[in-house]
Order: sequence, then structure tokens, then C-alpha cells
Amino acid sequence: MRDLAERAIAACRDYDRWASEVSRLTEAIRETECPHEAPAEQETHFRGYPSCFKEAAQKEVPEILSRPEHGLRRLTLDEIEREVKDCPACSRLVQLIRDRRHARRMFGAAKRRVRALGKRAAAGDGDAPPERQGKEA
Ligand SMILES: [Zn+2]
Repeated sequence: MRDLAERAIAACRDYDRWASEVSRLTEAIRETECPHEAPAEQETHFRGYPSCFKEAAQKEVPEILSRPEHGLRRLTLDEIEREVKDCPACSRLVQLIRDRRHARRMFGAAKRRVRALGKRAAAGDGDAPPERQGKEA
């Protein structure tokens, strides 16, 4: 069993890694350009052509197919992916969004680990003399 300090360093390293990954993916998502989308400066003239992704993301389908009176829902990411499959840029955007969801989950787990280790340290678990360290759970 690793000692508390070693585990704390590993948890902080994970925290930083996943925080950076979320930022990197957010930047990549922002920079993705669909060739079917009108550039922002043209939007006032042409009212803007939405990207394939935006068009699919704004689409609404019945919550229960056979019973449209039960209300509408937006498409899931898997459904959006099928809608944009012919556009490489929007397909890449779907993958980036999926990767960021994963990175956010990992970041959340890293945050919980840092907090749990912080609580153990606050409870005096990390203050054990060196000969006792390594025996803790
Ligand atoms: Zn597109």
C-alpha cells in the first residue's frame, strides 16, 4: 500500500492532467469549423447557415415515437453523430465532445480523490511517523 503523500501527489497529477485535457478539448471544440456553416460576418446577410451539428442538435423528435403528444426531446449525441456522418468536421466535433465528457468524468473523479486525501490528511492520517507510514490502508 502506497503512503498518503505518494497517493496525494498522484491525485494532484491526475487533477492537473484532466483539467488540462478538458481545457484542450474545449479549445479544439471552439476551433472546429463546419464548411457548411456561414461565416459569422455573413450571418446578417444570409441569416446564417447552421452547421450540420447545430442543425442536428436543434432537431426535436417525439419522446415516445408512437405518441408524439407526450412531448419532444432533443437528439442524443449518438443520434447527432448519425445525422452529421457525411461532414468530417462535424463528425470530429462529435468525437471531441465525447472525449470532453470522458475527460470531465475523470476530472470529477480526480477532484473527489484530492478531497478524500485532504480529509485524511486533516484527520492526521498523514502525520504518522515514518516507521508507521506504508502500513495504513
Ligand atoms: Zn458540418
